Amino acid sequence: STDVSDVVVLCGASGDLAKKKIIPTLWWLFRDDLLPSNIRFVGYARSKMTVQNLREKTEPFMKLKDSEKAKANKFFDSMSYVQGSYTDKSAFEKLNKEILGLPNGCNANRVFYLALPPTVFADVTRNIHDACMSKCGWNRVIVEKPFGRDFDSSAELSNHLAGLFREDQLYRIDHYLGKEMVQNLLVLRFANRLFGPIWDRNNIASVMITFKEPFGTKGRGGYFDQFGIIRDVMQNHLFQVLSLTAMEKPVSNNADDIRDEKVKVLKCIKPLTLDDMVLGQYVGDPEGEGEAKEGYLDDATVPKGSVTPTFALARFNISNERWDGVPFILKCGKALNERKAEVRVQFREVPGDIFTPGVVKRNELVMRVQPNEAVYCKMMTKTPGMNVEPIETEMDLSYNMRYKDVKMPDAYERLILDVFTGSQLNFVRSDELSEAWRIFTPVLHQIEGEKVKPIPYKFGTRGPVEADDFVKNAGFHYSSTYKWVNPNL
Ligand code: NAP
Ligand code: NAP
Repeated sequence: STDVSDVVVLCGASGDLAKKKIIPTLWWLFRDDLLPSNIRFVGYARSKMTVQNLREKTEPFMKLKDSEKAKANKFFDSMSYVQGSYTDKSAFEKLNKEILGLPNGCNANRVFYLALPPTVFADVTRNIHDACMSKCGWNRVIVEKPFGRDFDSSAELSNHLAGLFREDQLYRIDHYLGKEMVQNLLVLRFANRLFGPIWDRNNIASVMITFKEPFGTKGRGGYFDQFGIIRDVMQNHLFQVLSLTAMEKPVSNNADDIRDEKVKVLKCIKPLTLDDMVLGQYVGDPEGEGEAKEGYLDDATVPKGSVTPTFALARFNISNERWDGVPFILKCGKALNERKAEVRVQFREVPGDIFTPGVVKRNELVMRVQPNEAVYCKMMTKTPGMNVEPIETEMDLSYNMRYKDVKMPDAYERLILDVFTGSQLNFVRSDELSEAWRIFTPVLHQIEGEKVKPIPYKFGTRGPVEADDFVKNAGFHYSSTYKWVNPNL
């Protein structure tokens, strides 16, 4: 039948996120027959444009193969575009008419994807609520960050949304929750007897959660400067990883049982203070190549004298029976030496060491989120051969070795599919958000109010050396003796 089953309304279809990420992702899902059959897409924005214009803007990001042209035609044939304002209810009534005009449009489920700047967010959601909700099918709303910029603005946004939609209709995207290794935390922790019993303060010395980017703002720092690295990466992405790493075992693997535990563990964390932080801002490396010569403040779009951190390290204590006293160290930065995101769990020393003092190093369990997903455990073994001394080695699960033919879906692909199946596990609930803001807001206000000066670090380094001193004092031991032999080479 030609009856339409589901409609995706993309508000802000003319924008950057729509063309670079959302339309391409919808295409990949459509191409692979993962979306409901008889789906339709409706773009909405103020710009005067056609589906053909949208197609031309989007195709460069779709990685289209020649053999896929016919299917791509079908994809764009399933799309329409409605031009209209964000503030005008009548414009949304027109959008609603467009949907109702589709075969079976009245019964179709509706996904509203809000790819819009925060300034128009309140108007658009109100108008969707007032004029565009399906009366028969379900309605789900996908919301992109920023979810406010501090506790109050986020609460205001949450209250606004709560007045319009039920929590089970709201899908707040944190794309970290769509990453393979982040989703794997639940399985590693709760499907292995190996880790569960030692996942506590008696056995774990420190937990480090790291995000590193090897590039700077590439001349587009103006946008970044309004947020800074703490809001851009730490308060959302890294905090999600922290709560999945530290939460108690949920009652079941249902979305709300898991999100209950994530909230619970966040409630055990006190607001962050400056004493527990190291802030940095990159400066150019005169010997570097291309962008590396430029510091953050050399970016013409960054306000003169900006003190916005591009690097941040923060230590948290989780005051519960499992974790009290174990430093959770979150570290993130731009213009560093490599691209990497990982969770590093460092275990305590073996008590009553019987080997040559200093030889036995702490075990580490590393879950590498990107690049090249891997889980490896740094451990001691006897030096192979005549030597009987212990030596550092690893048990290594490298995904590209073990799962050679598996295609890792992109985070957005998984998340958008979750919206159709109604799974909210990998979306941020409003109480999680509010706990995260409670922890970060005072220090963010202090940094901004007092214009706290970040420590300069050179483009392409590991960040300020003060960060290494800090983690050393906090209880993370870097041995510098571990040597990895890449079995691929
Ligand atoms: P954008 O391109 O600036 O805006 C999307 C559309 O909204 C524009 O095409 C424009 O459409 C309309 N618009 C822009 N500024 C407006 C204004 N001042 N008043 C009214 N309408 C305006 O934004 P985006 O980069 O796509 O991002 C959309 C949302 O996703 C934002 O909340 C952003 O923070 C978030 N996000 C973006 C990215 C990314 O990579 N771009 C990543 C993560 C999250 P019309 O003029 O045609 O109406
Ligand atoms: P490592 O060399 O013992 O380093 C541990 C971490 O300490 C580093 O990741 C680094 O993280 C931090 N560090 C580096 N210098 C430091 C310093 N001076 N002071 C304080 N901290 C410092 O172990 P590793 O990084 O786990 O492994 C070494 C290499 O082997 C890595 O490139 C890793 O990817 C590779 N390896 C790969 C696999 C695999 O692909 N399956 C398995 C095992 C190892 P930050 O820079 O983030 O601070």
